[in-house]
Amino acid sequence: MTADGPQSLHDLAFPELAAVLKRDGVIGHHVKSLWRAIHREGELLLTDYPFLPPLKRWVAASVGPDKPFFLDAPEVIDEIRSSDGLTRKFLLRLNDGQVIETVLMGYEGRNTVCVSTQAGCAMGCVFCATGQMGFVRHLRPGEIVAQVLHARRVLKSIDPKKRLRNLVMMGMGEPLHNIDSVMAALDSISDVRGIGIGPSKIAISTVGVVPGIQRMAEQNSPYRLAVSLHGSTEEERAALVPASKRWSLEMLIDACRDYGVKTGRRILFEWTLIAGKNDSPETAARLAVLLEGIDAHINLIPLNPTGGFTGTASNSGHEFQKILRAAGFPCTFRQRRGIDVAAGCGMLKAEKRVRAV
Ligand code: SAH
Ligand code: SF4
Repeated sequence: MTADGPQSLHDLAFPELAAVLKRDGVIGHHVKSLWRAIHREGELLLTDYPFLPPLKRWVAASVGPDKPFFLDAPEVIDEIRSSDGLTRKFLLRLNDGQVIETVLMGYEGRNTVCVSTQAGCAMGCVFCATGQMGFVRHLRPGEIVAQVLHARRVLKSIDPKKRLRNLVMMGMGEPLHNIDSVMAALDSISDVRGIGIGPSKIAISTVGVVPGIQRMAEQNSPYRLAVSLHGSTEEERAALVPASKRWSLEMLIDACRDYGVKTGRRILFEWTLIAGKNDSPETAARLAVLLEGIDAHINLIPLNPTGGFTGTASNSGHEFQKILRAAGFPCTFRQRRGIDVAAGCGMLKAEKRVRAV
């Protein structure tokens, strides 16, 4: 047990787990067996697992209620499925009662999990249900890993042949505001001895936390970067994304340019289309100028209406796309199939709260 109480085995990196076992006199290959059971098999009842005797004894003495270690096993308190059955959204309750969302998406022949990185969010974007809840706390690495393991278990129960190969950090919370936990979780999630999702199949979506983008550039982080832009001028963006008062559009674009130069990686720019706010042809033209010289892919997101905002009509959205394509940018619409019941980030939780009142 640490000074702070029991610790989650899902929080530990492989070398940390090896050090714990070594400290307790369980040496050699046992760490690989334990890592495999936790991360590859996604076992939640380690006491029943057929480990060799030294590890079995360690598990019996060390893992469980009133023991130094536990496993993160969030409780599923609600699940909704899209009408086509390809999207499932889970409302998960963490140990301290906080509730987060995880989504499993199975369209276009790919299986993708969308995870939350915080309970609530401090960034307060005006059109986002999570932002409107405010910040509660950061998630630990184990709480992020456990979401992926849950999605994998569900996918396996649907079809044992299906593999979870893609991950996006586009659930509740701002990943780069919780960068240490996020990077620790991704190290474990991409470990080939465990879940093994390839780093190039993992996208971190940020509202524009500039120091986090700079750190990803300096460390040549292998994960993909997605930046939620939503505005082509300081004023347009600040009206939707309060965090841009701290990290201006100018600082953000500079950081993106630098990231592109340092890593050679393409950036995905996300743009939620909101009627009358950021969907005019003039805005599209300004966006094209703003991104000039950046290896950018623009992903247009239809708004899941919240807080009195209305989504852009389809013809205006296509006009917006046409302008960006004519300027030479790959520009696509986010796949919306299945979102009919799944709704946007934080919306299921917000809806639950309304229902509970
Ligand atoms: N905090 C990160 C990641 C989570 S939000 C970020 O902001 O990038 C993931 C994406 O969902 C962001 O692009 C965000 O702008 C978008 N989003 C949030 N609420 C939405 C809504 N109501 N409709 C459509 N997109 C929304
Ligand atoms: Fe936070 Fe992202 Fe929602 Fe903005 S869009 S409030 S950064 S979760």
